[in-house]
Amino acid sequence: MSRENLITESFRLVRFADRTHLQVRSVHWDGHIPYERWHTVSRRRGELQISDFAQQVERRLGDLRFFATCKECQEFLARGWMHQVDLCQACATKNHGVICGASRRGRRHLHPHG
Ligand SMILES: [Zn+2]
Repeated sequence: MSRENLITESFRLVRFADRTHLQVRSVHWDGHIPYERWHTVSRRRGELQISDFAQQVERRLGDLRFFATCKECQEFLARGWMHQVDLCQACATKNHGVICGASRRGRRHLHPHG
């Protein structure tokens, strides 16, 4: 995913009265169902645009709680799509036989003793 797309889908602005809140999305799993949470990471007075928060966006993009780079495919992704901090789910599945996210329940079914 391009950095621009990642920013577009992972950050949003919410207005509260005279302030603009910058929020960053995190993705979590409830079994095989992904869900999102939004975290306010900056609040400033005025009607601002995402470009006004460029520094805060940069800082969060470098925050391993939210984003990381896969060591195998070099994709820069939200942590919710990572199998571990340096390995994405796609590579975990493709290169290591790990079954992630959507298939977790199926895995238990397929390997009842494992
Ligand atoms: Zn990868």
